[in-house]
Amino acid sequence: MVGNHRACKQTELYEAWKVGAGNPAAKPGFSNHQSGRAIDINLLGVPKETYAWLKKNAARYGFRRTVPSEPWHWEYSPPRRAVARGARR
Ligand SMILES: [Zn+2]
Repeated sequence: MVGNHRACKQTELYEAWKVGAGNPAAKPGFSNHQSGRAIDINLLGVPKETYAWLKKNAARYGFRRTVPSEPWHWEYSPPRRAVARGARR
């Protein structure tokens, strides 16, 4: 349901999504995926309640949406306080 992906997989997912065969995925080439700080969530596999929870609580764990037009795209960008508390990637 949630996972890191690499640029090649990302491209694959996006191509599949464009033809309606796959899941929503970010467009390749201009993201933090290469740095490993970003994740894409398979929204088709996530119940509405779960996504609502995510929107409400993800920030506590250092995740935030950085692309308003891409609800599936989240990046790990913890405040220092979260790091001090021992939040893990
Ligand atoms: Zn993404």
